[in-house]
Amino acid sequence: MSTSDELNSYPHVAILPSSGMGHLMPFLRLAATLVQHHCRVTLITIYPTVSVAESKVISRLFSAFPQITEKQFHLLPFDPTSANSVDPFYLHWEAIRRSSHLLTPLLSSISPSLSALVLDVTLTSSVLPVTTNIGLPNYIMFTSSARMCSFCESFPPYVASKTSSGSVQFDDVFEIPGLSPVPISSIPPALLNLNNLFSTTFIQNGQSFAKSSGIIINSFEALEADILHGVNGKRAADGLPPFYCIGPLLPCEFEKIECSAPVKWLDDQPGGSVVYVSFGSRSALSSEQIKELGDGLVRSGCRFLWVVKCKKVDKEDDESLDNLLGHELMERIRNHGLVTKEWVNQQEILGHRGVGGFVTHGGWNSLVEAAWDGVPMLVWPQAGDQKINAEVIERSGLGMWVKRWGWGTEQVVEGEDIGERIKDLMGNDQWRVGAKNIREEARKAVGFGGSSERMLEELMEEWKKNS
Ligand code: UDP
Ligand code: UDP
Repeated sequence: MSTSDELNSYPHVAILPSSGMGHLMPFLRLAATLVQHHCRVTLITIYPTVSVAESKVISRLFSAFPQITEKQFHLLPFDPTSANSVDPFYLHWEAIRRSSHLLTPLLSSISPSLSALVLDVTLTSSVLPVTTNIGLPNYIMFTSSARMCSFCESFPPYVASKTSSGSVQFDDVFEIPGLSPVPISSIPPALLNLNNLFSTTFIQNGQSFAKSSGIIINSFEALEADILHGVNGKRAADGLPPFYCIGPLLPCEFEKIECSAPVKWLDDQPGGSVVYVSFGSRSALSSEQIKELGDGLVRSGCRFLWVVKCKKVDKEDDESLDNLLGHELMERIRNHGLVTKEWVNQQEILGHRGVGGFVTHGGWNSLVEAAWDGVPMLVWPQAGDQKINAEVIERSGLGMWVKRWGWGTEQVVEGEDIGERIKDLMGNDQWRVGAKNIREEARKAVGFGGSSERMLEELMEEWKKNS
C-alpha cells in the first residue's frame, strides 16, 4: 500500500473543544493521542479565545503536529447581556452554542469526509442536532470524572421527578443508581438555582447524552472502579451509549512553555519534600484567603511551590505578588518556598522527584495528572464539579479533602488550620502508598492490553467502520 493509500484508510475525526484550559487541554492531548494511533485529525478552532493560555497552547500544538488540520470556526456576534451569567467562560460556551448551526456547512466541507465528531460536553445539546442532520456519528468528550458524568446524566430526570407546580424540592442527598450517594452540599452550587445559564445548559446537555454515539472520559478503571467496573454492560442494557474511559490522556512536549525557574528551584530540593499548590487555570482566591494560605504554608514547615491566581482570566491578573501578599508575608515565605503568578508546566512539576504533595482545587485534569505521577493530594474544592471529584480522590486512596472547609467562597479558612492539614498531607504514608499504587495502575491502563488502551482501540474500530 502506498503512503497516501495508507493515510486514506485512516479514520478522520474532527474535534471541537470549548473554552477554558480545563476543557481545551484534554482535547489537545486527545488529538496528539489519535495522531499517534493512525487517525487523521481536524481541530476546529474558535477565535478569539477567552484566555491567553488557550491561544498560546493551540499554536504550539499546530507547530508540533503539522499533520493536524485546522478549521477555523467564526462565531456570530453575541450580546452577553442576553445570557443569564457573568462568567466569561460560560458566556463563551453560550456564544459557541448560538453559532452551532454554522457547523453544518463547516463539517460538510471537510475533506476527506469525516468518520466522527468529538465535541465538548458543554456544547452537546446544540451540536448534536447538527451531526444528526448530516448523519455524522458524534462522541461527547466529558471533561470531568465518570462520577460527575453519571451525575450529569441523572440530574435532568431527577429534577423532573422532584418538580411539582413549577418548583423543585431537592432532597439532602442524591440517590443515583450505580453511584454512591451525592450530598446536596457537593453538587455544583449553581445548580441549586435552576434559572441561570449554567443550570439550563447543564440540564439540556445531560438530556442529550442518550442520543450520542459514546462518551469519552479522561479516567481509568482503577481510579473509579466503583463506577466503571462492568459499566458498559449495564449502559447497553439501559439503552445508553458506552463510556470510553481512555485516560490518563498523557501530557505532551508541545504543552511546555519556556519557564524553567520553578523546575530549577525544585532541582535543589530534597526528594518528596515540596508541596505544590495550584488552583488550576481559572479559580481565583480572595486576597484575604491568599494571605491565609501563605501563612498556612509557612506554618506547615514544609517547602512549597505556590502558583497564585487572583483573577479568573489570565489577561486581567496583573496585581504584583508584593501587593497581594504584603512585605511581611513575602519575607516569611522567602526562606521556605517559591511563589509565582506565571503559568507553570504543571505536569513537569508533578513529575519532579522533589514534589511530595499537591494542594489542588480538584479540577479533573489536575487530579488525573497527579494520579499519573502518584502525588498524594489535599483537595480544596472551590466550585463546580470539584467536590464530586474530591470524593473520587478520597475513595481511591489518593488523598483527602476537608469537608468542613466547604466551597472556596463560603468562608476564609485560617492559616493555622491549613498548615495542620498540609502537615497531615506531607507526613502521611498511607496516601503515599495509595498514590504509588494508582500511579502503577495508570501506567497499566494505557500500556499494551490495558483497559484504556483497549477502549481506545474499540473507539478506533468504530470510527474505521465509518471511514
Ligand atoms: N495548568 C498548567 N499550568 C498552570 C495552571 C494550570 O499547566 O499554571 C494546567 C493543568 O495542568 C491542567 C489545566 O491547566 O491541565 C487545568 O485544568 P483543571 O481541570 O485542573 O482545572 P481548571 O483550570 O479547569 O479549573
Ligand atoms: N458540565 C456539564 N455540562 C455543562 C457544563 C458543565 O456536564 O453544561 C460539567 C463539565 O464536566 C465541567 C463540570 O460540569 O467540567 C464543571 O463545570 P464548571 O464550569 O464549573 O468547571 P470547569 O469545567 O470550568 O472546570
